[in-house]
Amino acid sequence: MGKVGVKLAVGCAVAACVVASVMVGRRVRRKRAWRRVVKVLEELEEGCATPVARLRQVVDAMAVEMHAGLVSEGGSKLKMLLTFVHNLPSGSEEGTYYSLDLGGTNFRILRVQLGGQRSAIIGHDVDRQPIPQHLMTGTSEELFDFIASSLKDFVEREENVSEHSQSERRELGFTFSFPVKQTSSSSGILIKWTKGFVIEDMVGSDVSECLQQAISRKGLDMRVNALINDTVGTLALGHYHDEDTVAAVIIGTGTNACYLERADAIIKCQGLLTTPGDMVVNMEWGNFWSSHLPRTSYDIDLDADSPNPNDQGFEKMISGMYLGDIVRRVILRMSEELDVFGPVSSKLQVPFILRTPLMAAMHEDDTPDLREVAQILRETLEFPDIPQNVRKLVVRVCDVVTRRAARLAAAGIVGILKKIGRDGSGGIASGKNEGASQSKMRRTVVAVEGGLYTNYTLFREYLNEAMTQILGEEIAPSVIVKVMEDGSGIGAALLAAAAASHSTSSVDTVQIL
Ligand code: ADP
Ligand code: MG
Repeated sequence: MGKVGVKLAVGCAVAACVVASVMVGRRVRRKRAWRRVVKVLEELEEGCATPVARLRQVVDAMAVEMHAGLVSEGGSKLKMLLTFVHNLPSGSEEGTYYSLDLGGTNFRILRVQLGGQRSAIIGHDVDRQPIPQHLMTGTSEELFDFIASSLKDFVEREENVSEHSQSERRELGFTFSFPVKQTSSSSGILIKWTKGFVIEDMVGSDVSECLQQAISRKGLDMRVNALINDTVGTLALGHYHDEDTVAAVIIGTGTNACYLERADAIIKCQGLLTTPGDMVVNMEWGNFWSSHLPRTSYDIDLDADSPNPNDQGFEKMISGMYLGDIVRRVILRMSEELDVFGPVSSKLQVPFILRTPLMAAMHEDDTPDLREVAQILRETLEFPDIPQNVRKLVVRVCDVVTRRAARLAAAGIVGILKKIGRDGSGGIASGKNEGASQSKMRRTVVAVEGGLYTNYTLFREYLNEAMTQILGEEIAPSVIVKVMEDGSGIGAALLAAAAASHSTSSVDTVQIL
């Protein structure tokens, strides 16, 4: 080999070495980046861990906070609001009633016909419409004029098809699912907005009055005779069907719960309530907080970026409005570590771009190559074709976030049961003898409504599994979680019917100490 040949060979060898070392270097960097991404996942798993022992701490904290909220106004982050609903529907209600359900993504108008016998809801018609975004942050008059005009159209349409006697007065139950300080069972003052609504002029105003005035402006003959929130409506429908129903939970855009409490346990208005017996208490549990809740940096950032920081902490870990955004934040963090996501997509920086139904679709993708995950990431976040190991990672993230949400919701439910002695641990029966306690444990039904619970199978399964784990195999069969489809709306019509039939009985109002 001549000199030139040797030089060429050496040159080629050097080049090959450089290429090889660049490739090895790249592979090493990739590996390191991948390890960092896996670490992000592991830290998330650790931060979101909900072993049963921790869930039991959440159960106890919920029961303690409920008690504190009942003792004094402002005694807990749980507002434990009075509803003045003493009588849940019995099944004997009769006639045609309307209801309006406003509380999140959509609003619904319903017309419910009651046949007078339990379970005999003859029929209900629903009109469902999204709330235009600009009305969520405009004025109360704009919002209620829009709603009243939809209501009028609906009434005219419905009553064209079926007869309506002009002499009959139309009664409306209004489900308004934001924190309200009730002044009677048909009136109340808005405390604050949640779930993306910000209509400042309405805070402190009477909610029924705003609606009633808008209805009158449209010339519609209709009276608002029940003001409730979605949890109370769901409890009402649950009780209509099954009188063992003692609590109701909403898990949709937001989350909240209510339950039937002994009036004498509502210490903050002891002696002032004129009606003895039970009263439905609206917990506003979305605002529950406890140091036992597993909180991550993603939750802290989400809270800080929200229009209501330090508020609705439980809701921000559980409900449909937020789950997708927690996942987005984790993927964003991962994409900063690993270029396989491509250049950090600007779409990924957009808050709430990854909606919870899309997250659920990725989580529940059962195609062998996770095709749907890739498609959603491509279409929503403009990621190029994502390799399969990264798709799997994204599914894991969805799983961790949803599992935590569902298990915390389960702990919240058991917390309510504990407060009213229906968790088998005490109150009704001694927790020391589990076998005996089960025989004494009364059948207990919890009504649930909300798009997250009803549409997201894995969420539902995780919730049910955690209920059994917390309650134990002995007690769990006595506790039944029942879906009340459209409960928030139908329940308002049922309570409007109950109010119409009790309209002569005394109405209590109290001054809270
Ligand atoms: P709202 O709470 O506004 O009254 P819904 O009870 O219908 O309405 O709940 C709607 C919410 O449920 C949506 O905002 C979304 O977060 C969640 N959701 C709806 N469909 C699904 C789905 N397929 N998977 C997961 N979550 C869903
Ligand atoms: Mg709802």
